[in-house]
This record gives sequence, structure tokens and C-alpha cells, in this order.
Amino acid sequence: MPDLTPVLARRITVLGSTGSIGVSTLDVIGYARKFYGAEVLPVEALTAHSNVKELAAQARKIKPRFAVIGDSDRYAELKAALAGTGIEAAAGRKAVIEAAAHPSDTVMVAIMGAAALEPALAAVARGTTVALANKECVVAAGSVFCRALALSKSDVIPVDSEHNAIFQVFRAADHDEVEKVTLTASGGPFRDWTLERMRSATPAEAVAHPNWSMGAKISVDSATLMNKGLELIEAHFLFALPAEKLDVVVHPQSIVHCLVSYADGSTLAHLSAPDMRTPIAHALAWPRRISSPSRKLDLPQVAQLTFQAPDHERFRCLKLALECLRRGGVSPTVLNAANEIAVEAFLQGRIGFLDIPRVVETTLDECPDANVEAESLEGVLAADERARVLARAVCRRMMV
Ligand code: NAD
Ligand code: MG
Repeated sequence: MPDLTPVLARRITVLGSTGSIGVSTLDVIGYARKFYGAEVLPVEALTAHSNVKELAAQARKIKPRFAVIGDSDRYAELKAALAGTGIEAAAGRKAVIEAAAHPSDTVMVAIMGAAALEPALAAVARGTTVALANKECVVAAGSVFCRALALSKSDVIPVDSEHNAIFQVFRAADHDEVEKVTLTASGGPFRDWTLERMRSATPAEAVAHPNWSMGAKISVDSATLMNKGLELIEAHFLFALPAEKLDVVVHPQSIVHCLVSYADGSTLAHLSAPDMRTPIAHALAWPRRISSPSRKLDLPQVAQLTFQAPDHERFRCLKLALECLRRGGVSPTVLNAANEIAVEAFLQGRIGFLDIPRVVETTLDECPDANVEAESLEGVLAADERARVLARAVCRRMMV
């Protein structure tokens, strides 16, 4: 048995603990405490955006040193909910960033959207290990994020299942010998739908993912295949892979998470049951492995693994993301910001499902300086904000 003592003593911060990834992270920690001992994987901080009730319930159970609510109006509510526990309460956007900057061994970045960018950079700046579930911050800030990483001692362990898989498979060989990296996509709930049927798809239908249980935003991204487009850009930055070496294949069973092909004709794949607790446990314990509550792979039960090419015409978001990947500049920042606005509008019933790629495309077209690179975080944040303003106006024009 390897000595897991140093791994199990790691202090963990969970940013976005009330979301789908956050809850799965606490499940992995809770399981480890039952399996290895109540004192393992101590938690430094939990943060959430607005759900005080859930955050306080988590804090009472997992016993962090402090809990942070992003909405500053809810400080008193959080403080009251934690009365008598000894857990410190804090509130506001700055306090979320401070939680990331506060000493701990691993920061799980499970906040949704580009809102994770500044907290993620705060964790990177202090050189800690970053378990990175959030992809929007890499897409939005690309080279600025990579430069910050290069200047810090941080290890980033991707949690997004495909990138976690690539991270694991890459370790088996030399980066330069890689000819192609293929990300798999389930195809989402509308994989076989006609465009006509997609036109009237409802938010409830879009978030009903066949294989994964996830937050609403990423579920819609999976239905449009924007998720895979964002992931191509994420892979480009995290693994320094040019667009020509990146590919997507639709694999409805979500068992194979990546395929890495080498010059000699070999292709190495990573397989697991579709359960985010596997990459979460991997990221928390890296470079060791710990027991996790994840569903384990049962191949006879899976029976069939099938693959097909993605349809770029029905899933225009994938095409748009690929164009931005090739185009560079702040076009991925604009793509991501416009998509966040469009998905929110769709979830609120203000635009239709097929309006999502239209909003993104129109915003990209109307953005005068999307080809220009942002040299600093301020430049990225300004491009992100400009794109949001534009995208909101485009949504208003399209409102049903
Ligand atoms: P979610 O919507 O379920 O949870 C988001 C969490 O972030 C919540 O705790 C929420 O309180 C917090 N949050 C939201 N907005 C915030 C803000 N402005 N400031 C601070 N905190 C905020 O999302 P999720 O499905 O858990 O996804 C989280 C991230 O992980 C996303 O970037 C997503 O793309 C990525 N991811 C998720 C999955 C999955 O299976 N859910 C898989 C791969 C990658
Ligand atoms: Mg993924």
C-alpha cells in the first residue's frame, strides 16, 4: 500500500461548493473521511454565490474554517445560519477571491462561468495546486491565464472529464510525438433531433442530459455542443495544442473521454463510467490515487461503444467555437461571454434554443476588435464586459 498520508492531509478549498461539481467534491471528501479516517482532507473554505441555506448545511457537515457567500446582502443570514459552529462567515465578491488567495493545499475551482477567472487567478498567484473544473476562465482569458500559470509554481489539474483524461494519458508519452488529441462528446439530448424539432426545444428538454447530471448552464452547452467547442479551446490552452491537432468525435455512451494518437499509429484512450467524482478524486489526490464513491466501469453492461462525426450544421456553436480557436485574439472571450448571456436568456424563456448560436455569431460579427489580443487581465475583463453588453442588446432584438 502506498503511503497516502501527505495526500490525505491536504487542506482543500472548494469554490462553488453548492453547484453540481461542488456537491460531488464534498461527496468525494465525505467518502474519503469514512474510508481513511474522519480527519482526512480537512476543508479550509467553502464558497457559494447565493444559496445560504445549502452553504450553511454543507459547512455544518464538512466543517471548514470559513464559509463565504458571494452575494454581500446575505452576510447576516449566513452568520446567523452558522451561529455556534465556530465557522467564520464572510460575504461579497472580494471575499470569494480572498478565499482562493487564502492558504490551502488545493483549490477546487467549481464556480460557473467567467466569474471564476479572478478567483482562479488568485489561487494560481499563490502557487497552490488548482483542481480546475471551470472551463470558461481558460476560454475567456487564454494566454493571460497561461502566462500567470507559467509565472507561478501552481500545478493545474484539469477536472473537466476530457481534459482530466488527456492529462492522464499524456503522461504516458512525449508531448511532441502526439499527432492528434480527440475529445469525445455525448452529443447531448438533441443528438438525433432535426433542426425543426430543435427550434422549439424547451429549457427543460435542454437540461435533461442523457448521461451526466450537471448545472443548468453546462447542460445547455452540452445540448448546443458549445460545451465541446469551449473544451477544444480549453485543450488548446491547457496542453499547448494547435487547432490542427484537436478533434471531436460523438460517442453517445460517454465511456471513452479522450483519445490520444501518436506518430506510430497507436491511440491511447481513457475510459471510466460517466461520473465526475472520478476526475475530482484524481485531481484531489494527484499524483496518487484514492478510493472514491464513483460508479465503476462495467463493460459487459455497457456492451457497445459507438462513435460518429459531429454535425457542424445542426450544432453551429461547435463551428463558431472552432472558428474562434483559429481566429485568436479575444474572439474566444467574446464567444464565451455572448454564450453565457444567450444561455441565460434561453433558460429564462426569452429566446429560443436555435437563437443561442445566432446571438453568439451576431455578437462576434458586431464586436469590432475581436481579433485583437488582450495583453492583461484588465483587457480580458473589458472585452468580456463589452461582449456582454452587445449580446444583451442582440438578445433583446431576438426576443420571442
Ligand atoms: P453549477 O451551476 O451547478 O454550480 C456553480 C457554482 O458556482 C455554485 O456553487 C454557485 O453558487 C457558484 N457561482 C455561480 N455564479 C457565481 C459567481 N458569479 N460568483 C461566485 N460563485 C458563483 O455549475 P456546475 O455544473 O457545477 O459547473 C461548474 C463549472 O464546472 C462550470 O465551469 C462547468 O463548465 C464545469 N464543469 C462541470 C461539469 C459537471 O458535470 N457539472 C463537468 C465539467 C466541467
Ligand atoms: Mg467535459
